Amino acid sequence: MLASRTHIAASATAMVHGLVQDLKRQGHTVYNLSIGEPNLPNAPEIQNGALEAIERNQNAYPPSPGFEEVRETAAAWVNRTCGTRFAASNTLVTAGGKFGIFLSLQALVEAGDEVVLVAPHWVSYPSMIQLFDGKARVIQSHMEKGWKISPEELAAACGPTTKVVILNNACNPTGSLYTREELAALLAVVPPHCWILADEVYSGLCYDGRPYASCGQFEEYADRSIVIQSCSKNFGMTGWRLGFVFAPASFIEVLIKLQGQSITSASGLSQWAALAALQNAEHIQRSVREALEERRNIFIEGLSARFSPFPKPAATLYCFLPLSYFGVSHQDDIRFCKELLEQAHIALVPGTAFGSPGFVRCAFGETPEHLVACLDKLQEYFKKS
Ligand code: PLP
Repeated sequence: MLASRTHIAASATAMVHGLVQDLKRQGHTVYNLSIGEPNLPNAPEIQNGALEAIERNQNAYPPSPGFEEVRETAAAWVNRTCGTRFAASNTLVTAGGKFGIFLSLQALVEAGDEVVLVAPHWVSYPSMIQLFDGKARVIQSHMEKGWKISPEELAAACGPTTKVVILNNACNPTGSLYTREELAALLAVVPPHCWILADEVYSGLCYDGRPYASCGQFEEYADRSIVIQSCSKNFGMTGWRLGFVFAPASFIEVLIKLQGQSITSASGLSQWAALAALQNAEHIQRSVREALEERRNIFIEGLSARFSPFPKPAATLYCFLPLSYFGVSHQDDIRFCKELLEQAHIALVPGTAFGSPGFVRCAFGETPEHLVACLDKLQEYFKKS
């Protein structure tokens, strides 16, 4: 018999992705707004970073914490772009931000511990919490309030058994972004016995010139703050599976042991590609952000023109729409997405996957041409129905 911990939900985004691939294999054109990644070619520097490592025959096991050069360069990068003060000893190089979150929760959560998170939330948090026998304590945020919670709501959710508070800024799936002042007010009410797990993998995708505020900027909480970062969205490197954890050195030491006894290390080749990205971060991040800001504008302006005005998300590559936006009277987002995929081959992700039924997530990481084709198809479908 399998261990009971295997009874976790499959990733809803991965499931939709699988259905999309099935339809494509059957020869259908799929209008894909489900995919949470920038559809962009890698910058030549990233490609060369990996190619040169192959030519140098760098094929040995990397050290578990990550190559020292990568740790140092990653710390310098996050300090420059997010105003933090991390050293190489505060840095773990790992297989994507996702595994960084997994390792951090593995290190912290024991049976019965509560983990506070805000819905709509990234699909994987509840399953990871469940894997470590923790209890998710969910604060529901609301569209009318810009999908942001207040310090009062956060304070009320934290209790003596709260071990971790997850703050995902900017937020997948809503695209909301807390300012430094808002973040400071939230952090101030997190009880001193709680760890702060700051998932900041979208820090580079803030639009209209908005600055990014990192939880790592607040020295007063540095001894219990963990910042998750990633090359995936910042540099358009999702497939390389490369991310970072920045945290107190003693915590990183624990994660190094956990990583060493599980995956050994992040892939060496991906680390060399990431090093090249980090060394050329300013212009690579700018070009990824500019491309996605353009796609956000095309998508939201196109949606607003075809349906009704909808505000542009401040960050990320997502917008989170209520079903009523499309004029449907029911609240069954799973049925809605299923019908849309079956009848029009349009792929969205149901809000239920993010803990918020009655909504759908649209991702605008696809090419401008594809986004326009999706918008036309959406309009055609809803005109008919
Ligand atoms: N955190 C959030 C909020 C995400 O949306 C994602 C990916 O979609 C991740 C973490 C994991 O990113 P990766 O493992 O690609 O670095």
